[in-house]
Amino acid sequence: MRLILLGPPGAGKGTQAANLIDSLNIPHISTGDIFRANIKNETELGKEVKSYLNEGKLVPDELTTRVVWDRLDQEDCKCGFLLDGFPRTIPQAEALKAGLIERGLELDKVVNIDVDTDILVKRLAGRRVCKSCGATYHVAGNPPKVDGKCDSCDSEVIQRDDDKEETVLNRIKVYENQTQPLINYYTKEGLILTFDGTKPIDELSQEILDALNESK
Ligand code: ADP
Ligand code: ADP
Ligand code: ZN
Repeated sequence: MRLILLGPPGAGKGTQAANLIDSLNIPHISTGDIFRANIKNETELGKEVKSYLNEGKLVPDELTTRVVWDRLDQEDCKCGFLLDGFPRTIPQAEALKAGLIERGLELDKVVNIDVDTDILVKRLAGRRVCKSCGATYHVAGNPPKVDGKCDSCDSEVIQRDDDKEETVLNRIKVYENQTQPLINYYTKEGLILTFDGTKPIDELSQEILDALNESK
């Protein structure tokens, strides 16, 4: 299956992706994770994108699209993929569409996770992530079993630089201006499935899996 996870920052895309990939048996492709790994490893790409991430701005479309196709053209994406955080703009969606057509491929569904802004701010402010494996937690709603330590790999659990309050508000604005129009775009393409992102994590995962099975 070729799927997109759409939703504002803090909607739970990464959290759902982690739950969904085992059942769907496709790789989780997160542009945010790719950028953060490159920043951590101080690659050329990392140097180029660092300031955008720190300021909560979008990395330019052309660069982002190139990075995504480099990844999607790898062997493990031949049977499908779960895109998380891409596309985030109409030009990115158009570039994805053109690239898929070139390769004779089609998207199956766009999973849209809906959450109100006031909840997003609380979620992002309380979000904590594992420094090494990227697992996602929340200080109040979904803390690691041992304080400050990742459940899966025992590494340190930290706050992302861009989850500080000023950046969070900026990222939500960027979402409203640049990404929200994609809901309409993919509705017109007949691909949208919308879910209530305020439901408990596992309940929501099951709902998404059921809906994807039904739509086959
Ligand atoms: P995104 O990838 O869309 O930015 P995340 O998956 O990182 O979102 O989730 C943002 C924060 O919200 C995390 O702290 C996560 O633990 C929490 N969260 C995710 N899904 C839910 C949910 N259904 N209910 C409550 N909190 C959630
Ligand atoms: P969240 O799910 O919390 O919004 P992500 O990890 O998806 O965060 O993205 C973090 C940052 O990486 C974004 O604020 C942006 O700077 C950059 N980024 C990720 N995906 C894209 C994209 N498709 N286009 C442009 N920039 C992106
Ligand atoms: Zn970890």
